Amino acid sequence: MPILGAHMSIAGGYFKAVNAAAELGMDCVQIFTKNNNQWRAKPLTEQDIQLFREAVEETGLTHPVAHDSYLINLASPDDALWQKSLDAFVIELERAEALGLIGVVMHPGSFVKSTEEEGLSRIIRAIDDAHRQTPDFQTQILLETTAGQGTNLGHRFEQLATIIDGVKESERLGVCVDTCHIFAAGYPLKSAQEYKQTMSEFDRLIGVDRIRAFHLNDSKKEFGSRVDRHEKIGEGFLGLEPFRHLLNDRRFAKVPMYMETPKGEEEGVLLDEINLKTLRGLVKKRKPAKRSGRGKK
Ligand SMILES: [Zn+2]
Repeated sequence: MPILGAHMSIAGGYFKAVNAAAELGMDCVQIFTKNNNQWRAKPLTEQDIQLFREAVEETGLTHPVAHDSYLINLASPDDALWQKSLDAFVIELERAEALGLIGVVMHPGSFVKSTEEEGLSRIIRAIDDAHRQTPDFQTQILLETTAGQGTNLGHRFEQLATIIDGVKESERLGVCVDTCHIFAAGYPLKSAQEYKQTMSEFDRLIGVDRIRAFHLNDSKKEFGSRVDRHEKIGEGFLGLEPFRHLLNDRRFAKVPMYMETPKGEEEGVLLDEINLKTLRGLVKKRKPAKRSGRGKK
């Protein structure tokens, strides 16, 4: 079975995200390690860390991961903002390491008024610096594929490849593929043929073994729109087929997959629970290894 989970709220304590995920029958969980719309963050306390780690152990959840703050822009052409972003990003890595997370999923950045090339080189410099400041960390930087809104980088696999090729300690980098984002960015996923073609393209440019996480989101916007709006699984422009291809792709059987779909409930049932059930229903039952001799025609 695939490793499935979702982004969960840390309101009331980091451990609460873990417990909530476990209660819904998830296998893994994604969190923010601080308020994602603020620069400042209270330092993690020993108790925060201990309660979180205990909850992970007790529930048996695997692959806890973080998503970085939306304010961070490592591609910024503004020196002050770039430095502020880098400092905040290093703190995110430190928090993830303290909590024992597998990585920090990050949006590469927006080049704003500079150029794509300049933006990519800023990102490379920032990641090299972040790596230098965090030697021996287990937690990894996971570059997320983006929808390519505005001047957002990471919507072409070539851009991620440029970052990975340019970073000195590239073995410390992984990729998080977001289904909504790549579809909005113009990579088709619907038919088996399209899915195969998109994954081969990824494999050729980056290598599928770089994929350390997936974000499973349907899209409120159409193919190639370059707009990032997540939708409930099966109810957006992606529909169910892309998820069926992905969930049954044996190459990704051990890669954690997190939903970032809208929260809320329908007729008293949490949408996370509904989405999870939808996804699990797409997994093809494996045929038993041994066949009995009986019942043959
Ligand atoms: Zn995502």
